[in-house]
Amino acid sequence: MIECQEKPLTKVAVVDDSQFIRYLVKDILEGKGYEVKTFATGRDFLQSSELGEFDLVLLDIVLPDGDGFTLCEELRREPAFLTLPIIFLTAVDDDQARIKSFEVGGNDYLRKPIHPKELLVRVETQIRLRKYVKELEGLNRKLEYLAFFDPLTGLSNRRAFDDWLARLEAQYRRHATPYSLVILDLDHFKHYNDTFGHPHGDELLVTLAETFAWSIRREDFLARFGGEEFVILCVASDEGMGKTVAERIRQQVHELAIVHPHNPPYGVVTISSGVCGREAVCSEVELLSRADQALYQAKNQGRNRVCGWQEVRDRVVKEKKPGSGE
Ligand code: GH3
Ligand code: MG
Ligand code: MG
Repeated sequence: MIECQEKPLTKVAVVDDSQFIRYLVKDILEGKGYEVKTFATGRDFLQSSELGEFDLVLLDIVLPDGDGFTLCEELRREPAFLTLPIIFLTAVDDDQARIKSFEVGGNDYLRKPIHPKELLVRVETQIRLRKYVKELEGLNRKLEYLAFFDPLTGLSNRRAFDDWLARLEAQYRRHATPYSLVILDLDHFKHYNDTFGHPHGDELLVTLAETFAWSIRREDFLARFGGEEFVILCVASDEGMGKTVAERIRQQVHELAIVHPHNPPYGVVTISSGVCGREAVCSEVELLSRADQALYQAKNQGRNRVCGWQEVRDRVVKEKKPGSGE
């Protein structure tokens, strides 16, 4: 059986104190398939439970409880009504009124007595423009999403991370609120891709992103930094607390026991992490660089491990000490 989906009706509000005009406009528009609600006063319209549902408003300039211009300005102050088409409908026909109609945010102006065809073409034009505006708003939302989210994993991206880091840095400077950075990197991911293929590599990235997202605290921030690198900003945490988070995630990934072709016969997927606390550095740029150095050390020490910047520093100090033997 073919299901017939009904097209939603375009909903128009007519605000006019003249009953004759209300009936006439309703009759003309309903004849063309519009859903029409009529209101005799501005207050009735503003208090309507359907206020947010209208696609267009036909608004009389002279109303018993005020004027259409003021009502139009009031609507435009609300973000929800910024693009709602408003056509003024009035017997007042002078240059000033026409100019004011547009100054207060109206979209068009229609003189009484009403010519049915003119009413219809003006309404149709505004409805068509409204449709384009809605489509553009939808595209804008999509662009906004693409600007701040990674399409593969759905996690925040590098740009969103930069914003978060700047915010945490400002809080650190103003209130000395600590934070730490964890950089996570898949071990031997190239080998995984080369053996199982890129699409499976993508699936692995998605699985790991989900695991990370489940593991972090609600207040912390997770992003895909790029490629197979992820970052976590741990709020109100020093390096030690950051390492605890990183170690928990390392274990969880290990326990997933996802087959990895490295170390034949076969091993499991693992990650390495580098951690640095803000207390150990002078700037957020240095924070990134030192967490990266810690990650490098974790890789060098055999992977599937967490390394903090303090361990890197201790190692450097030890190596520099005369007679340390290294
Ligand atoms: P290491 O343990 O030293 O980190 O080795 P690795 O192989 O993980 O690191 P390397 O930097 O040599 O390789 C990273 C690989 O990640 C190579 C690249 O093809 C892959 N990669 C990056 N982004 C994506 C992606 O979006 N999808 C897939 N499937 N692979 C990706
Ligand atoms: Mg890697
Ligand atoms: Mg890498």
